[in-house]
Amino acid sequence: MNREVRVRFAPSPTGPLHIGGVRTALYNYLFARQHGGKMILRIEDTDSQRFVPGAEDYINESLAWLGIEIDEGVREGGPYGPYKQSERRDIYREHVKQLLDAGKAYIAFDTPAELEAKRAEIANFQYDASTRTAMRNSLSLPADEVKRLIDAGEQYVVRFRIEPGRDVEVNDLLRGKVTIKSDILDDKVLYKSADDLPTYHLANIVDDHLMKVSHVIRGEEWLPSAPLHVLLYEAFGWADTAPEFVHLPLLLKPDGKGKLSKRDGDRLGFPVFPLEWHDPKSGDVSRGYRESGYLPEAVVNFLALLGWNPGDDTEVMGMDELIAKFSFAHCSRSGARFAFDKGKWFNHTYLQMMPDAELGELFKPVLRANGVNPDDFTDEYISRSAGLVKGRINFVADLWEQAAFFFKAPETYNPKDIKKRWSDETPELMRTLARILDEQPDFTGSVVEPVIMDWIKSNGLHMGNVMNAFRLTVVGECKGPHMFDVSELMGKEETIRRILAGVERIKPADASA
Ligand code: GLU
Repeated sequence: MNREVRVRFAPSPTGPLHIGGVRTALYNYLFARQHGGKMILRIEDTDSQRFVPGAEDYINESLAWLGIEIDEGVREGGPYGPYKQSERRDIYREHVKQLLDAGKAYIAFDTPAELEAKRAEIANFQYDASTRTAMRNSLSLPADEVKRLIDAGEQYVVRFRIEPGRDVEVNDLLRGKVTIKSDILDDKVLYKSADDLPTYHLANIVDDHLMKVSHVIRGEEWLPSAPLHVLLYEAFGWADTAPEFVHLPLLLKPDGKGKLSKRDGDRLGFPVFPLEWHDPKSGDVSRGYRESGYLPEAVVNFLALLGWNPGDDTEVMGMDELIAKFSFAHCSRSGARFAFDKGKWFNHTYLQMMPDAELGELFKPVLRANGVNPDDFTDEYISRSAGLVKGRINFVADLWEQAAFFFKAPETYNPKDIKKRWSDETPELMRTLARILDEQPDFTGSVVEPVIMDWIKSNGLHMGNVMNAFRLTVVGECKGPHMFDVSELMGKEETIRRILAGVERIKPADASA
């Protein structure tokens, strides 16, 4: 069938979007873009009990942050709106009536207490063809009684009338054909008069049909609903245009068995939400990838590979490449372990690929947070300092730990390094070093380095001791990037100032003890 690709991401605004939901949205998006199709965002808010304020904005903000663009939705509009289910009551009412008129659904008056009593009386009670005649519904009660109850304002639900003895076929692009017996299905509630709203099943099917959805790509947890959905398409006479199904495998715990949960994130120290979430009721704050310092490109790349691979070993792929390469043929059917360390690795990798100027811009707020005014330094100084240490960082915030010394001269010096590298002779050597450096007309690292190396060699000095003492005075400890890159960036004046300050302040370990 040559059909326009139209997919939808259909979250319920019941809390922050889980990272597994983000992956579902991403796969929908990749598939839509690859086929030049449309990506719909539909808000499934028919469960008023579970509605959480702020959740819809959170969904929009998360998708926007990750670069998952929506073509049709509540904000974007589109030809098949409204895109929020609570604004589509008339449409659902009409469709419920259609099923009732065709005898494919019926009205049931059983109260929660009555249903409870039945469940207590009959083990594994299921509301279906074998039990419905013994219940209070429009199939078992006379028509005038049904009318009287409705007129009297009695609350009811509409149930789908599932006929037993049928083989229901679900075709899933990942899993192939699955056939189940209709006997195991119950007469699902499609609509509740109490809030005049449909249930998930009815609204979902009606909307997928009216919004001309071609592929339903969603989490595996919805697989059990698929046979019912197939029967609903059929009952409406829409079987010919029913969408293709793809049920994506679960995201699994990084360790042990079972599905990834928020608790795993708390226990192992990684976010399970794209953005920080402030729970409006409890006030609890949950960590987000964005606030934890992840780049959206890294999160997208990491998530794309949780359940899919490009067919070779390629790991680092931007959105365009993912769009070009994505395919259900390379999606896994089994759960994907949430290897959060890999997420860190992707972030590290994307930071390495980022131009230094861009990294420098991201470094500025970190500097500010640590009491350094970035305006006191040139953009070039900031970005080059970031560039020199970026190989050692996983997150932008790590830049401070690695590059703080570029912005603040050391006030203290690492005692272990002093013990190892500073002796009674060191001050004199450092003074000489400062003098030689001062004589250099060109302070470029590659020019200064051979001069210092010559001095060390021709005087039979210990290279490690001299260079580490030099580093100790400038950095405050014996770590950091190549020393002559550091001195070049810091400049002659500041380098010499730090060497001489170190000479004044550092005392050999034994003497100070
Ligand atoms: N509203 C459902 C959810 O929250 C949608 C499931 C589907 O995609 O059919 O995930």
